[in-house]
Amino acid sequence: MSGYVHDVIVLGAGVSGIYAVKRLTDLGLDAVVLEADDDLGGTWFRNRYPGCRFDSESYTYGYSWSQEILETWHWKELFSGQPENLRYLNFVADRFDLRRHMRFGSRVEAMVWEEVDRVWRVHLSDGAVFVSRFVVPSIGPLSIPTVPDFEGREDFAGDWWHTHAWPNEPVDLSGKRVGIVGTGATAIQIIPAICDEVGELTVFQRRPNWSSPLNNRPISEQEMADIRLRYDEIFANCASTPGGFEHTPKWGFWDDTPEERRTLWDELYQQPGFAITGANYAEIYFDEKANQELSDYIADRIRDRVDDPVTAEKLIPRDHGFALQRLPLESGYFEAYNRPHVRLVDVTENPIERVTVTGIQTTAGHHELDLLVYATGFDAITGAYDRIRIEGVDGRRLDEQWRKSPRTFAGVLSHGFPNMIMVAGPQSVSGSTNFPRAIEGSVDVMAELLSRAFENGHTRIEAEAAAEADWVEEVKKYQERLLIRDSKGWFTGYNSNVAGHHEGTIRYQAYFGGAPRYNRFVGMLVDQGFPGVAFA
Ligand code: NAP
Repeated sequence: MSGYVHDVIVLGAGVSGIYAVKRLTDLGLDAVVLEADDDLGGTWFRNRYPGCRFDSESYTYGYSWSQEILETWHWKELFSGQPENLRYLNFVADRFDLRRHMRFGSRVEAMVWEEVDRVWRVHLSDGAVFVSRFVVPSIGPLSIPTVPDFEGREDFAGDWWHTHAWPNEPVDLSGKRVGIVGTGATAIQIIPAICDEVGELTVFQRRPNWSSPLNNRPISEQEMADIRLRYDEIFANCASTPGGFEHTPKWGFWDDTPEERRTLWDELYQQPGFAITGANYAEIYFDEKANQELSDYIADRIRDRVDDPVTAEKLIPRDHGFALQRLPLESGYFEAYNRPHVRLVDVTENPIERVTVTGIQTTAGHHELDLLVYATGFDAITGAYDRIRIEGVDGRRLDEQWRKSPRTFAGVLSHGFPNMIMVAGPQSVSGSTNFPRAIEGSVDVMAELLSRAFENGHTRIEAEAAAEADWVEEVKKYQERLLIRDSKGWFTGYNSNVAGHHEGTIRYQAYFGGAPRYNRFVGMLVDQGFPGVAFA
């Protein structure tokens, strides 16, 4: 085979794929986006469940790269909801006429590296084959939903779905007996959003999650005008904090008195978004005693808000401290349990035995349901890669190489898989910080790599094994420094529904050294011509 069809294939038309194709086509490259869904939007196309919204401040979530978009788009709420978020992405794509580069309904099943021609052959489920010199996976860290393999799952006679596949058409929940499995960020959004409408709501909780108020509110015309004037400052602030938000942590937990700490936490509990984690004492992430004191404070807030003391105690996590798993933010979640028709079922105490035709059977009894919702999370960070058969140099498989834990160079490249340049890939900051801020940096690095390759006539880019090994050690080092290291959430790759992602198999999937340190590292790579990367 000689020649190649496309310069670049981008996989995925979500937040990252949209920006990736904009940058690539601005560079004058022939880029095509392959998207499995019927339209663009990724996360915001898929997740249509009631209550689905940002928990990053809307104006920090939006793209920063178009002054025109910044000047024209009006975020209506501090934490914008899914329909508006999808409208925003369509607005951006339409403004820059990006759809013409996108091929929808294109599910990629396999990618095979052809060393002789230095191209990827990309195989779609409909039998089509695309060929390109470079592939840019922009496939998201939370895009592969997982549904528990409960006995009898398919027997349930009512409607059931994972939240990621919530139907497009309106769902009439009125008077229905609804069951929700899971109490992660998704469930914590959906439960208060539907509890007024449903007839009965039964929540099947295995491990409770910590959560604190989102404190959402509308954004007025005047406030939006002020935000527009401040955009440069906002994005600079986000770039300077570990979490990629405007909230800045501080050291000094033990310098303050318990009363001073409590005063700070009372304030942060009222503030919007991730202030409670981002503007808190940094010690809460490193020092068990500091974290315990904060956890005790938040536990008391739960007790204040939940009428039934038994239910309140069940909602308080005891196996991990506050903010040591990805923190869900809530709007009336705890108060939902004060409604007489909302019931919390502890499935650690009484495990689910099976799904029946009419509901869920636990060891303590049967729960009759009309509709069953799985808010059971995702095969996080590496799941979307594992679902594609990716064959690199000498036929090596990416899923096998990453079976125990991913190995990447700065989340951008993986040794043995040349010309595959990941946007927001494993071991970058995409999983651990304000996602769109991380995406933009990641797309910019990808574009720098490719423009360097095309300008210099390079047809092969690969991370050197030693540079990758150093990065993997760096990722481990920062995860091990944090109390997060012992938690059982998706940050550390835990997912009981995915083979090999169970307790005792800690994975190093995200870089926890913070956005500024990560950005300095990739900035150095760009400035110094990508040391650690072999161009040929
Ligand atoms: P998640 O945080 O992984 O939560 C999944 C829930 O399902 C957990 O409570 C888990 O229990 C439970 N579960 C899983 N398998 C189960 C089983 N076999 N039996 C019983 N319970 C089971 O997933 P998620 O809520 O979808 O959230 C994932 C991530 O998506 C979030 O952390 C966040 O990053 C993102 N997200 C963001 C937003 C937002 O920004 N607005 C909203 C929603 C989600 P265990 O804890 O015991 O495993």
